[in-house]
Amino acid sequence: MKVEVAKTAGFCFGVDRAVSTVYRLLEEGKRTATLGPIIHNPQVTGDLAARGVVTVNDPAETPKGCTLVIRSHGVSQAVEEKIRALDIPCVDATCPFVKKIHQLAAAAGDQGKTFLLAGDRDHPEVQGILGHCKGENFTVKNNEELVNLLKNNPDLREKPLAFAAQTTFHAGEWEKCLETLKKLCTNAAVFATICNATARRQKEAKTLAQRCDRMIVVGGRDSSNTAKLRDICAQYCETYLIERADELPVFSAGLSVGITAGASTPASIIKEVLATMAEVTNNEQNFEEMLEESLKSFNTDERVHGVVVGISPTEVYVDVGRKQAGFIPANELSNDPSVKPEDVVKIGDEMDLLIMKTNDQEGTIMLSKRRVDAMKGWDEISQALENNEVLEGKVIEVVKGGVIVLYKAMRIFVPAS
Ligand code: SF4
Repeated sequence: MKVEVAKTAGFCFGVDRAVSTVYRLLEEGKRTATLGPIIHNPQVTGDLAARGVVTVNDPAETPKGCTLVIRSHGVSQAVEEKIRALDIPCVDATCPFVKKIHQLAAAAGDQGKTFLLAGDRDHPEVQGILGHCKGENFTVKNNEELVNLLKNNPDLREKPLAFAAQTTFHAGEWEKCLETLKKLCTNAAVFATICNATARRQKEAKTLAQRCDRMIVVGGRDSSNTAKLRDICAQYCETYLIERADELPVFSAGLSVGITAGASTPASIIKEVLATMAEVTNNEQNFEEMLEESLKSFNTDERVHGVVVGISPTEVYVDVGRKQAGFIPANELSNDPSVKPEDVVKIGDEMDLLIMKTNDQEGTIMLSKRRVDAMKGWDEISQALENNEVLEGKVIEVVKGGVIVLYKAMRIFVPAS
């Protein structure tokens, strides 16, 4: 039997971030609640429940003293306001890709545009997005619904439209929708919001299914992205959706079997499945190599200009005008460890940033503000030295032999003498 594993199988950036947030809070000794299951994977949610994490369906149900985590799907503006009104300590783990759609939905209303969303209106991500709309909006689940919508509301064809998609929307169906818009609408702005992680998983699942005799999709049965992978694969070969290794079917020798996994499937479960398969095929080592490859990132030195679109206690989300979601980890915001992200920036701030790392697979860019600030600060300090000018900074650390003073993001040593 030949086994091939999709390079993109497993946790995406957004889910990894949300799940790590919950585990981090637990490590910090905080009682934690999540607004809805943090992930559509029963093994992970079971483990979290065993560690005391409570799942609530409404912010008002949050037990006293708990920190509430908003999952990667995000929530509506009304829910965000309710959490603030109830004064519940909250960590917002909404995926930056989803946050971007919230802003598009709100901006469409501000600009007098009709917001059109391709997605599943029962999905929490879609409900969250629609909860940020300020004007007329419609949701279509596929191209057929879009065609019918435009047929029944012919005025929409001339109106200014903003068209976006749920992050996990089927890439092929999206292309069909775009064809329809191009043919029938005269004034539609299109925003390609299908997440890279999803598109890559779907594309790879399709090519793998095309060349394999059987496909195994590992993931939670409640996960929409896992279900979509199963549907795509099932078009090309016999496909099995399994949640655990012990659900693996028995395959006859000589078959080629492809394995992929939804973005909410932890690596531990994929490895378990592979270990079981490897007993027959010795393929595990291959997978390890593939996993390594999929985590590769590239360093760049490029500077970009960005606008702050979201702030959390651990990072700041920035729109850098690219498809990728930009984020600045808290320790790359400022050289002063005592400041919090919200003390340094606010939503809408524009700034120059240095690209630290890009992850093309997940479509993210890690950025640094403090390094750009430090470069600017250095120029000013050099200038001040030449002009014999006095500068004022803030003492942030007492070290052996002196103090460290922060001036415009530069750490400056001032000897005790
Ligand atoms: Fe974010 Fe994409 Fe993962 Fe959804 S699939 S959580 S949009 S990274």
